[in-house]
Amino acid sequence: MNRGHYRGHPRGHDPIPEECQWPYRRQRSVSSEQLVSPGSGGLPVVHHSRYVCELPPRHRFPMGKFPRVLQVLLQDQVISEQQVWTPELVSEDVLRGVHTAEYIHSFLSGTVEEEAQRRTGFPWSPGLVRRCRYETGGTLLAAEVALQRGLACSTAGGTHHAYPDRGSGYCLLNDLAVTAQHLRSSSSPLSSSSSSSSPSGRKVLIVDLDVHQGDGTAFIFKDEPGVFTFSVHSQKNFPLRKQRSDLDVGLPDATEDGRYLSTGKLAFLIEAHLPGLLDSFRPDLVLYDAGVDPHQDDELGRLRLTDRGLYQRDLYVMKTVVARGVPIATVVGGGYARDVDKLAVRHSIVHRAATQVWKECGL
Ligand SMILES: [Zn+2]
Repeated sequence: MNRGHYRGHPRGHDPIPEECQWPYRRQRSVSSEQLVSPGSGGLPVVHHSRYVCELPPRHRFPMGKFPRVLQVLLQDQVISEQQVWTPELVSEDVLRGVHTAEYIHSFLSGTVEEEAQRRTGFPWSPGLVRRCRYETGGTLLAAEVALQRGLACSTAGGTHHAYPDRGSGYCLLNDLAVTAQHLRSSSSPLSSSSSSSSPSGRKVLIVDLDVHQGDGTAFIFKDEPGVFTFSVHSQKNFPLRKQRSDLDVGLPDATEDGRYLSTGKLAFLIEAHLPGLLDSFRPDLVLYDAGVDPHQDDELGRLRLTDRGLYQRDLYVMKTVVARGVPIATVVGGGYARDVDKLAVRHSIVHRAATQVWKECGL
């Protein structure tokens, strides 16, 4: 990778920090040439009004957070409506790249056993199917846009507990895995300068910082050298039975910013791993699960990160990836609180950090 060939920002303003140089790979065409920008040069944000569905009264999952995330971003003028991209329903074919035909058939047609539904945490409904397909389509679109623009963020996604043949822990379709698999199988590596040693397809690094281990994703790619799964999570939290990611960092209960983050600079525990992973694995794309359930006020997390800690975390991950010229797409991941407004603001931290990276790095 030749970082010395940076060509400068086409709009010719804002000095570009040293660590944010973007090399030539973004100029290359990708498989999604049909993608058309909504008409803004700002950070692409992928959202669909149907990321939500009806749930029974007093259901624990804070479904209302998804539209609120976009509302908060617009109200606070973090983004404008021109930056919003709208995904399509993910196709059954693409889903079958990861999920079994039997599972996809039963989930889409509503014949999932009651006990299996109970394990997912959601009662089946046509609206649930539609929501999950838009959400997975959103992650896929964010990844495709990121391949063109360098960085893109969805306002949903991160359903990392779903396995090929079943849902689990509020996750029905594994959007991260479906996206990684589709991008691997749909084209060859972007750059002839890539050090890719895999026989075909892009190499994808999944950075999963949700407080729960990305067990479904780890299982799906356990024998796939072209996808590297990296999970930092609360060791004692769900799932009790962990899978083996390519790299797992299990944290003790009540880990605070001070331990999760290195003090004095925008870096944290994973600085010991992420730069080295990027340099050795040389991914063509990073999928980043920016779960906010490590927050101190989260109902299901067992860690004690603050808003500032999450912001520093997200900023560090995205800057580190972008600085190497690697495209990165983000999903919101887990976050659980009764106050949906507060939760939406928490989820918007990754978009705020991404906006800073977008500006500072001249994307
Ligand atoms: Zn989680």
